[in-house]
Amino acid sequence: MRPDGVLVVGSITADVTAYSRRLPRPGETVLGYDCSLVLGGKGANQAVAAARAGSPTWLAGCVGRDPFRDIVLSELQAYGVALSQVRTVEGRTGIAHIRVDASGENDIVITPLANASLDTDAVDESIRAVEGEVSLLLLQLEVPVPVSCHAAKAGAAAGLTVVLDPAPAQELPDDVWQHVDIATPNENEASELTGVRVTDVTSAERAASWFLDRGVGHALITLGSAGALSVTATRTRYFPAYQVKPVDTTAAGDAFTGFFAAALAAGLDDGTAIQRGMAAGALATTRTGASPSLPDAAAVETLIRTNRAGDGG
Ligand code: ADP
Repeated sequence: MRPDGVLVVGSITADVTAYSRRLPRPGETVLGYDCSLVLGGKGANQAVAAARAGSPTWLAGCVGRDPFRDIVLSELQAYGVALSQVRTVEGRTGIAHIRVDASGENDIVITPLANASLDTDAVDESIRAVEGEVSLLLLQLEVPVPVSCHAAKAGAAAGLTVVLDPAPAQELPDDVWQHVDIATPNENEASELTGVRVTDVTSAERAASWFLDRGVGHALITLGSAGALSVTATRTRYFPAYQVKPVDTTAAGDAFTGFFAAALAAGLDDGTAIQRGMAAGALATTRTGASPSLPDAAAVETLIRTNRAGDGG
């Protein structure tokens, strides 16, 4: 039997968020009304989502030697993510500095710091260390691009299902795609990578062909409140979104990818995995913040049971 675990290779940050009525103009200081400090980073968020979905989940990434390290590690542990592949390196833990105004408008500066120290040797070691425990490797692009690309190749060679969430979008060598089983861009990332402006299902289908032409087995393009489009060589399916009342769409994509990956690793078919991912993404929009907005498996099951949307057509 294939193991049901997930290995995430990706970023870990401490997210420092200041809330103010309006964002300061350049050079200006404004008074805020709240501030938070929580675990973040696409790698960490997707690992938390996969663990909350019920997968044994390992995160391979780097933190620094500073007080933020203890904060992010204790949150990862509390969510059930295995820490054996998290390395402590010299220097400081990555930071995302976020400002949010009363309307929800935000800007973000991400400083990778320790995340820039993740290297290909560490990735190889982690893949070896979890051999026999995981069947799926989940990647994003918040660690150095050559490391993500190496991980895709090494993961494929180890027989793992390789899922790449190409976020944030950046130029990748063309030969990485042949090692990617499933790519999960949102519409902006799909637009940037393919040059096809994705605005609807038809344009999403054209962008999906770009990925398939380069060797990706399954292009899964998320369309926010419009749902998701799944395209393989033999089948195209559109999945309408679950109906929710969004308050903050941060981390919808991370919830989607983590729950989708966990369901696939558990041996579920891809249609069921997409539904779980979409329900998790929808629920993440109903709470503020990134990692604190990730739902648990029970909430995802309830949304799917009580809402018939999300069935692939
Ligand atoms: P990202 O956060 O990467 O931009 P999306 O916004 O496309 O990703 O969201 C991922 C998935 O989460 C979508 O495919 C959809 O199923 C769900 N989702 C996101 N926003 C909403 C929303 N406003 N209402 C319902 N579902 C949503």
